[in-house]
Amino acid sequence: SPSPPRQASPTSLEHLGRGTRTNIYAGTLSCREEEEDGGNVQYSTREMRVVLKILDSAHRDISLPFFETASMMRQVCHKHIVLLHGVCVRNLENIMVEEVVEFGALDLFMHRKSEHLSTAWKFLVAKQLASALSYLEDKNLVHGNVCTKNILLARQGLDGDSGPFIKLSDPGVPITVLSREERVERIPWIAPECMDDTKNLSIATDKWGFGTTLWSVCYNGELPLKDRSLAEKERFYEAHCKMTPPVCCKELAELMQQCMNYNPPERPFFRAIMRDINRLQEQNIVYEDQPRAEID
Ligand code: ATP
Ligand code: MG
Repeated sequence: SPSPPRQASPTSLEHLGRGTRTNIYAGTLSCREEEEDGGNVQYSTREMRVVLKILDSAHRDISLPFFETASMMRQVCHKHIVLLHGVCVRNLENIMVEEVVEFGALDLFMHRKSEHLSTAWKFLVAKQLASALSYLEDKNLVHGNVCTKNILLARQGLDGDSGPFIKLSDPGVPITVLSREERVERIPWIAPECMDDTKNLSIATDKWGFGTTLWSVCYNGELPLKDRSLAEKERFYEAHCKMTPPVCCKELAELMQQCMNYNPPERPFFRAIMRDINRLQEQNIVYEDQPRAEID
């Protein structure tokens, strides 16, 4: 169960990276456990490796939205979603304590291993992400920051038999606290309807993010529109432009296009997306490896 260990206090050890207004550390959590032994209560301490996501102390003004994210994460329990152990406040720092996902962010992993990624591997990533998002859809929970850097890899799955195993990370600080410029930077991950008004954030927003993620996965973790200026990114949405569909896998390209529909109600349900992906797998389409596409 995701309830926090009692009397836990985390220690941060190694800096893993910076996020949006956060710093991420690997650390340990000492959990004091009570054991009944023939009427005697015994205490023992267990050390657990954890990830600490610490909100910058300069951004204490957004502690509340930060903890709203944590509260959303506390409501979920799914094998493809990162487990939040709990939250804590240490001096002036607000911290989310999460499970360690061994191989880190998917985008970096895909850059490192781009030669080894098969279509079948990418299909499994898509399927697992769709199952996590379908679970959130059923619970009426919005993630709000679906992108390849927020997908973590628990198993690499490059040796053929087992396949990859992903976990969707928490969304971090909600987009409602971001500046307009920060939102423009997130184009094309952030859904177009959230550009003018972040109140438009909804389950449909995550479908757009899922579409962008599919694009990136098909292109081995490439960042979409990475060479475009902020003004160009804005124009991209204003003109209702579309991403070039990947040719490596036309079935995923099709799904991507359905999800990246400028009209939110027209985006498919994750249930339907899962059904499509399962059907394609049954037809064995995914196990034939096609040559990788060049990006134009
Ligand atoms: P954002 O809200 O922008 O996503 P963030 O605070 O979540 O910001 P990220 O950029 O997503 O920060 O994560 C920073 C780095 O920390 C990632 O590249 C990843 O390598 C590492 N990381 C984050 N969470 C975990 C985890 N649970 N296990 C292992 N590594 C992690
Ligand atoms: Mg993140």
